[in-house]
Amino acid sequence: MVKEENNHLFFGGVDVVELAERYGTPLYVTDENTLKANFRNYKSTFSSTTTITDIYYAVKANGNLALLKILASEGAGADVFSPGELELTKLAGILAERILFNGNSKSDDDLRTAVESGVRVSVDSVDELRALSAVATELGKEVEIAIRVNPDVSPDVHAKIATGLKESKFGIPFHDVVPVCEEAEKLPNVLLAGLHCHIGSQILDISVFGEATEKMMALVERVYERGMKLKFVDLGGGLGIGYRQAEKATAPTPKDLAEVILPVFEKKMQELGISLKLVLEPGRSIVGASTILLSRVNAVKRAYKNFVAIDAGFNLLIRPVMYDAYHEVVVANKVNEQASELYTVVGSVCEAGDIMAKDRMLPKVERGDLVAILDTGAYGFSMSSQYNGRPRCAEVLVCDGKVDLIRSRESIEDLIRNQEIPARFI
Ligand SMILES: *Cc1c(COP(=O)(O)O)cnc(C)c1O
Repeated sequence: MVKEENNHLFFGGVDVVELAERYGTPLYVTDENTLKANFRNYKSTFSSTTTITDIYYAVKANGNLALLKILASEGAGADVFSPGELELTKLAGILAERILFNGNSKSDDDLRTAVESGVRVSVDSVDELRALSAVATELGKEVEIAIRVNPDVSPDVHAKIATGLKESKFGIPFHDVVPVCEEAEKLPNVLLAGLHCHIGSQILDISVFGEATEKMMALVERVYERGMKLKFVDLGGGLGIGYRQAEKATAPTPKDLAEVILPVFEKKMQELGISLKLVLEPGRSIVGASTILLSRVNAVKRAYKNFVAIDAGFNLLIRPVMYDAYHEVVVANKVNEQASELYTVVGSVCEAGDIMAKDRMLPKVERGDLVAILDTGAYGFSMSSQYNGRPRCAEVLVCDGKVDLIRSRESIEDLIRNQEIPARFI
């Protein structure tokens, strides 16, 4: 999707230098075709197998409504973590029966919203199970649940995104799952329907998905042995993408994932003579590569290092700081120029750790140049903040040369909007 013409970066058929002039910077730019292609890749891979698979897009990766609408029209369900994300998916037209409400800390209000909306709930603790049953009973409604399992597997990823380790805050310990299922069967108004896990994010060595599937299917067997039945198994998201140029060709695909999961999944179903739906919850692998972040160079400083100071910082893209994540950086108005110097690209936030990219070979950079940070569609805007009094930036959607604004830039007004000065100070 990234093309080069006249020394300018083209994205979705659009000259990004012109985009930056028209909409200002910083600016998130999403390519509709890449987004659709990534989703269709999952859909076609898994629909060509005998297992019925449903793809629940993980909304927290990127909750822009236009993107959700596109994914909804492509047939995505949704994995949501809050009433806010649930509302977005409803606005996008995703049906309640294809939404799973997740989270390890849901309030009674959260549970009430979920039950009233008719979505399924992934239950993360016995406390929550009992609270959910009480809420559903009070509302006179039934709610289908999945039990979030902590499968105790260790993917080789950054510690902050490994979610299925035994010490992780997520899920019910493996050996407690069957008793919890039994308790669920006895409680009023909750209907056991599935087992759920999500082992981590940005997983490039996908053998761990095979391990997780083995463990989940072993639990399915025990649940059936105890006379209980299920409708689905949800193996979560977590498929990694190639952030580094060198990783792009070797990063795992949905097909690779299918080859690891399905044999294990199908073998156990055959053994047990049962048929379950498979649910997957990809976030990053659908939106990550669909988006770039454009940012203007405010200063180039030759100091201990060659610093390039841009107008975006961890207020808009926290991944480099929070996860030591790597994003390719391109000087978008000099794409055909030779990389000639080593630069460290830093943000505009008042924190020494606000480093977007370390030690990159780039063409000679000057104040006023435009930088594109690639593959920022996942956990980019959705993790943004107003830190340092910076309003959040705009987002645009590009498609075959067409451009639409999909979120307007916040203003200084938006920083002040909900603040109140006690009357005694006025
Ligand atoms: C975050 C999350 C996902 C999505 O993870 P990706 O790595 O973006 O694919 C899926 N399921 C659950 C429960 C999550 O918390």
